[in-house]
Amino acid sequence: MTQILSEIHLDYSDVLIRPKMGINLNSRKDVSLERVFKFKHGQLRTGLGIFNANMATVGDFAVAKKLLTRNMFATLHKHYSADEIGAFFDSCRKEGVSLDNLFVTIGLKNPDSEMQKLKDLETKYEWRHARNICIDAPNFYIQKALDVLMRARDEFPDSVIMAGNIASGDICLKLLDYADIIKCGIGSGSACLTRKQTGCGTPMVSLILECADIAHSVNGHICADGGIVDVGDICKAFCLNSDFVMIGGMFAGTDEAAGDLIEKHYETSEIIDGTHVIQTKYFKQYYGMSSEYANNKFAGGMGNYKTSEGRELLIPYTGTLDKILQDITGGIASCCTYIGAASVKHLSKCATIIRVNHQLNRVFEKYSV
Ligand code: 5GP
Repeated sequence: MTQILSEIHLDYSDVLIRPKMGINLNSRKDVSLERVFKFKHGQLRTGLGIFNANMATVGDFAVAKKLLTRNMFATLHKHYSADEIGAFFDSCRKEGVSLDNLFVTIGLKNPDSEMQKLKDLETKYEWRHARNICIDAPNFYIQKALDVLMRARDEFPDSVIMAGNIASGDICLKLLDYADIIKCGIGSGSACLTRKQTGCGTPMVSLILECADIAHSVNGHICADGGIVDVGDICKAFCLNSDFVMIGGMFAGTDEAAGDLIEKHYETSEIIDGTHVIQTKYFKQYYGMSSEYANNKFAGGMGNYKTSEGRELLIPYTGTLDKILQDITGGIASCCTYIGAASVKHLSKCATIIRVNHQLNRVFEKYSV
């Protein structure tokens, strides 16, 4: 008989963090956003645990460089060649940008050439011990994903390996035999159609709780991937004990994101000299990596056995990424002061999460200027 787990699984919009007394923090400036990560397979990295998604639109060089400059973590999408990545390494080195927190993504399609790409980076571009690897599979429950992970660990024993995505705790322990970070989240992404097309997925809050508990019991780490709508959601993920948070849509409207900038003209109701005033608005293209658009661009079409599990979107242009990163660091620091946490690392120890029926007051949202 099919089993139904009847306990409600919660998402970011179902919960809030309850403010409370903690250690005395007079200012957000007193909060430490940096954290030292000691990974299961022996490596250390330092920074604020924010990643850009390893998608073609936001896993690009400009976004990655900006995140690395701000002492965060970054991925590069899997469609860059070793030579392109090598040139990026050179430019970072020239500008003094550390590559320590950079993850290069590989896919499952052709494991031999993916391993070769990592080796080329190691030998030709001095990426010592192929430092950080992200293994990307929309569905890590398939055997091929585990095979590629095992091979990557075997060939790159010194690397930090992030693997995903998964959406249940049961698989975490198995993956953590080889991986350091498990990427959690299926169906939550803003450009994702998986839940609509397959009915599969898990809400993020319950998923983070479950996976963090299991991963941390064996010194593993998790990354909450997808579904970040507001900076408060990032704070919630950290409070729920996620070590990292991965962001796509929130970065996709920025100058640094790789999607095309699209200009659109709208006729307004205002009339000057007998003609309607035209307003110009700017958008950036953002598409899911399983969208028809991405399949056409990177995989030679959809094939006749697949359906699109991603959207192609035009989202409002938001200017420089710096502005968003400032919002993120400011919001996290402020969250720490609301619950008396001295650092990001302490958020989960200090947080009480409450389940709510109504999260935000949106009454005047459409009048925002
Ligand atoms: P966002 O921050 O935009 O809410 O979510 C980003 C995440 O959505 C990515 O890191 C990835 O896990 C997921 N994602 C990206 N493209 C697709 C897609 O085409 N289909 C699905 N199901 N998920 C996607």
